Amino acid sequence: MKIVVLKFGGTSVGTISRIKKVSKIILSFKKKKYKVIVVTSAMSGMTNNLIKKSLKISKSFDPIEYDVLVSSGEQISCALISGQLKSLGHKSRSFLGWQVPIITDNNHTNAKIDFVNVRNIKKILSKGIIPIVAGFQGITKNGEVSTLGRGASDYTAITLAKYFNAEKCVIFTDVDGVMTTDPRNYKKAKKIKTISYEEMLEMSSLGSKVMQSNSVQEARLNRTDVLVKSSFKESEGTLITKRKKIKNHKIITGISSTKNDAKITLVGVKDKPGVAAAIFKPLSKNNINVDMVVQNISADKKETDVTFTIKNENTIKTVNLIKNNKEFKYDKILIDKNVSKLSIIGVGMITTPGVTYRMFQALSKNKINILVISTSEIKISVLIKQSNLKKGIEALHKEFNLDN
Ligand code: ASP
Ligand code: MG
Repeated sequence: MKIVVLKFGGTSVGTISRIKKVSKIILSFKKKKYKVIVVTSAMSGMTNNLIKKSLKISKSFDPIEYDVLVSSGEQISCALISGQLKSLGHKSRSFLGWQVPIITDNNHTNAKIDFVNVRNIKKILSKGIIPIVAGFQGITKNGEVSTLGRGASDYTAITLAKYFNAEKCVIFTDVDGVMTTDPRNYKKAKKIKTISYEEMLEMSSLGSKVMQSNSVQEARLNRTDVLVKSSFKESEGTLITKRKKIKNHKIITGISSTKNDAKITLVGVKDKPGVAAAIFKPLSKNNINVDMVVQNISADKKETDVTFTIKNENTIKTVNLIKNNKEFKYDKILIDKNVSKLSIIGVGMITTPGVTYRMFQALSKNKINILVISTSEIKISVLIKQSNLKKGIEALHKEFNLDN
């Protein structure tokens, strides 16, 4: 049995005419002899609206009721798709999370899927009926409705692909696929045809918003091929797959960037064991995500400077936590609120020497100063002034031949 999971995002099911379009896509897969499992998001804007309603009641709205509330968007869209297919004379049935059932842990608003019972859907598939599953939701062992975190209908789709051994999971969205860089920053951005899980993970966590990064990680663990493509126009999309399947690697696959970062430097920190832990402990306790960290080597070994980056919106909170921290001493605190992280990503850099040099050279030719550097096996990130971001993206896009 050739199974495919098709997931439709919020804009793809945003209106009734789009739901009609989606039904045609579903039927085109049925024609190709696939057993189709559909996973749907809520109509665009719906989940946000429901969340707003909960906030009008309380900033700490009860999580169990929150999940009942916000999961209702998907209930509407799965019924509409199934209803449309039936009105065209096809067999279909909507499934809410509890009807599958998709069993999750008790972590309301951000639950993880523990288990999917495949029996009901298998039965339906064998009768030629198309199941339309509400994404983003499940049920706890206590029988309460749960949700899986924002954007998590991707997670539902990837998980169903795993449990049903699907040939692939197709994510239909409002963009053509994964781009070499955000087209809003650089018009010559090109669609990436194939990308490895590892690269996609880096791209998502470094700023590319096409797919929820947890879901990419799930796909990687299960070795599920994921095709991301537009539901609005016929185009090939981007295949996210194993490295081995990718031929003709470019050295660099994509360029990501962040906005709204802030850089904090603590000058003259007393250099002794435990200082770094003392600085970062209160930040972590307050859920402030620290990204890049560098510590200078001090010549006299008595004092050092520590620089790190955080999201701009956390600046005041962070500075207060540092000023009130009695566990360490420093001379001065410097704050720069207008920085961006610019990253190049590519498995090709593992086997190609000189990539770091080419990146730095290209930036320097464009008079872009590098403030902080960090690297991993398949990415190099630099922190630069936000005002240099577009120029930097263009320079690197050209340097690594991504324009064509
Ligand atoms: N409707 C949910 C959200 O907006 C889940 C999803 O779209 O993937 O977060
Ligand atoms: Mg979404």
